[in-house]
This record gives sequence, C-alpha cells and structure tokens, in this order.
Amino acid sequence: MSATILIVEDEPAIQELLAFNVVQAGFQAMRAEDAEGAWRHIHSHLPDLILLDWMLPGISGVALAKQLRADARTKDVPIIMLTARSDERDKISGLESGADDYITKPFSPRELMARIRAVLRRHVPQMSDETVASGGLELSPSKHRASAKGIIIEMGPTEFRLLHFFMTHAERVHSRSQLLDQVWGTQAFVEERTVDVHIRRLRAALEPTGMDSLIQTVRGSGYRFSAINQRFD
Ligand code: CA
Repeated sequence: MSATILIVEDEPAIQELLAFNVVQAGFQAMRAEDAEGAWRHIHSHLPDLILLDWMLPGISGVALAKQLRADARTKDVPIIMLTARSDERDKISGLESGADDYITKPFSPRELMARIRAVLRRHVPQMSDETVASGGLELSPSKHRASAKGIIIEMGPTEFRLLHFFMTHAERVHSRSQLLDQVWGTQAFVEERTVDVHIRRLRAALEPTGMDSLIQTVRGSGYRFSAINQRFD
C-alpha cells in the first residue's frame, strides 16, 4: 500500500510541483490550499504524512500544525513544514508547533523525497517495504508474502495490510476506529464491524500455522498483536 500525502500549499505552481514529485515517487497525493481544505480531506481520509506550507491565507501553517497536534485523530500524523524562511528562530517555532521536520524553499525534489521517506520510516513503519518478523511470522511487503514455519500464508490484500500494521505495532491495543484509519485510511465510510470481518479472515488464514492466537481480542477495546506469552505445545 502506498502512503497518502496531504499537500497544503496555496501557491498553485508549488502545489503542482509537490504533487508531481509525490506521485512520481509512488505516493498518493491529496491537495488543499488552506487549513479548511486540509480538514475537509482529513475528515474523509486520514493522510500518512502532511506537507504543510508555513505561509497560508487565513489560518497559518504553524497554527494548523498546532490544531493537528491537538486533535486525537491527527496528533500522530507526521508533518513536514515548508517555508521560505531559513531563520533559526522560525525553524524552532515550526518544530515547537509540532512539525516533525522542516524544509526551506527553494528545495530540490530529491531532498524533499528523502525527507518524506525518512519521516515515513520513523512514523509509519507499515508503509515501509522492509521485511518484518515477529512471533515466528515473517512478512515481506515487497514480495507481498507472509510465512510461518516454512508455510506460505494465503490471505487477501486487506488481511495482509492488517497483519503488516499489527506486526509493526505489536503489543499495543488498537481500537476498531484506529484500525480503520491506519489500515483502511478512513473512518468515515466503513462500518466498524468490517474490522471484525477481516480479523476473522486473518485468523482463519493464520490458523494452519497455529499463529492465529497472536491476534488477540481485547474486550471493550479492540485488538492486539502479541508475540509474548505464546504457548508452544
Ligand atoms: Ca504559501
């Protein structure tokens, strides 16, 4: 699954350039020209990263970054701030507003993409192509293959994304709405029961290898992938 990047930039030429480079690099691009437009996008689809211009009409980029950090749904979405200012104090206030990284205009597309990839690797490990192993399971996103005990596990694309997310966020409880945001990219148009359906399918896919017990139901909260306290009998 490719990451979705929300570009918030009011200058059409720069917005176009950013979107071009983002799509060229294999990501999905959503575009907004101000804070209001950004929130409209976010309500229908939670982005994996936000490229945020400092100077926006109306609500500034810094103020929007603060709003995003204060909102439960968006507080963990990484932000890269774009600015024409290279002043050290501005850099600090940008980072204090909640941005994860900072890039000064004019920037080279290569530098921008390198920053985007670095931030995604840190914050959104399920978007990475690196092979993950946990609890005896191994999952390779680039080969789109999961296996355990030498057995290839057959599953659908949603179950694969779900398992990848679980394995990169093990030992934590995820609510159904968090899973919808992180795996489906939206809370808005999918019923929470859908999550239960795919959990059932994922467990059924894992069953032949005995790995279905790694997916735990946490009553009243959601689901957890746990490789701890596994019984091997
Ligand atoms: Ca601007």
